Amino acid sequence: MASDGRVALITGGSRGIGRAIALQLASQGMRIVVNYVSNADAAAEVVKRVEEAGSQAVALQADVTRGEDVERLFAQAAEAFGSVEILVNNAGIIKDSLLMRMSDEDWDSVVDLDLRSVFLCTRAAIRMMVRGRWGRVINIGSVVGLRGNQGQANYAAAKAGLVGFTQSVAKEVASRNVTVNCVAPGYVETDIVEDLPQELKKYIMDRVPVGRFGQPEEISGIVGFLASDAASYITGQAIAVDGGLVIS
Ligand code: NDP
Repeated sequence: MASDGRVALITGGSRGIGRAIALQLASQGMRIVVNYVSNADAAAEVVKRVEEAGSQAVALQADVTRGEDVERLFAQAAEAFGSVEILVNNAGIIKDSLLMRMSDEDWDSVVDLDLRSVFLCTRAAIRMMVRGRWGRVINIGSVVGLRGNQGQANYAAAKAGLVGFTQSVAKEVASRNVTVNCVAPGYVETDIVEDLPQELKKYIMDRVPVGRFGQPEEISGIVGFLASDAASYITGQAIAVDGGLVIS
């Protein structure tokens, strides 16, 4: 799956699943733009790991919920490496509570990052991809967007919205050799899951058919495949990578 220096931008590439995706795409020979919002040290560490693996990377700070930051991010990425050919919309947050107690702020902040940022970044990237007649957009959704979850109405709405977004944009750009897909992880051991109460972790684990949480590297493999030429006939799909959670 060698990719000869193609340029990949990963939102939230400094930690967790985004970090694993950055390292996976670097191992396929891509040049990597590691976006982060506040954790410059973690982003710099990912850049170092990519360089050690023999590829090139740059860390770029931007809050991807902000239109002006997104414009600057893509301009700086183009300055560093040229047009972005692979976009991984990975940055995401949760702000859980039952709907009856959910604040406006917790609804807005989750929808802003988990859905609106994907619109902003994809719109910025797709122009370059269509011009270049090749591109890959990979949106990191969630199984929660496929089947809902109590206490996560904001997150489920955003992640379900991502599926409709993926299908629609896939139809718009398919004839230009640009594919748009969604990868929907189950529970993966990152800082997001780390913060869950112990009893909730056990409850979840008991319901995952493979009997354990996933590792970030178990998500990044399929992202690497979707980003490659080998996946040229796959578009508009939401692929669950969840240890069987969605079928349980
Ligand atoms: P982490 O909390 O480990 O990392 C979040 C990343 O997003 C960090 O790199 C962070 O940057 C970045 N980020 C946060 N806010 C912004 C912002 N406004 N602008 C730019 N970057 C931002 O998350 P995960 O790795 O767990 O999750 C990654 C994706 O996978 C998310 O979309 C999540 O919804 C999805 N997912 C995760 C699951 C899990 O179990 N972990 C399950 C299903 C889906 P910084 O380091 O600077 O803070």
